[in-house]
Amino acid sequence: MSAEHSHSTAPPLSIEGARELVRGAGLRGTPARLAVVQCLTTSLRPLTHAEVSEKLADRGFDQSTIYRCLMELSEAGVLTRLDLGDSIRRYERVSSDVHAGPEHPHFMCVDCGSISCLVDYRFRLSPSQNDASPVGEITEVLVKGHCRECLAGTP
Ligand SMILES: [Zn+2]
Ligand SMILES: [Zn+2]
Repeated sequence: MSAEHSHSTAPPLSIEGARELVRGAGLRGTPARLAVVQCLTTSLRPLTHAEVSEKLADRGFDQSTIYRCLMELSEAGVLTRLDLGDSIRRYERVSSDVHAGPEHPHFMCVDCGSISCLVDYRFRLSPSQNDASPVGEITEVLVKGHCRECLAGTP
């Protein structure tokens, strides 16, 4: 069970829009791929393979098909695979106007482990010198705290 947050959907992506996106990445627009892209576009938080499978269960796609789609779409650059250090793989749509780097930080609740995208926060990590980052390549920014649901005391 995952805690659904109060405003957890974004505007939907039409089937034509999904097809364009998938074909633009050089893949065939199979029904499963289009469904996965649509599913992740409407989510305002990254989803696991299990969560995507659950959401698409009534469409008749089996889990291994969904898994393959997530892999293919990630390799093609339509989705991002997030590794937030809790050994749970999550996926989200790459937004079209951002090309590289951590596009937004993620918020992890230390109480229930739920992950949200901090899309409304302006955020930029830039080294103070023009040099590359002294620590290496930053791929993900994770912010931790207590989510609204946990603060309100609802499990
Ligand atoms: Zn929480
Ligand atoms: Zn995100």
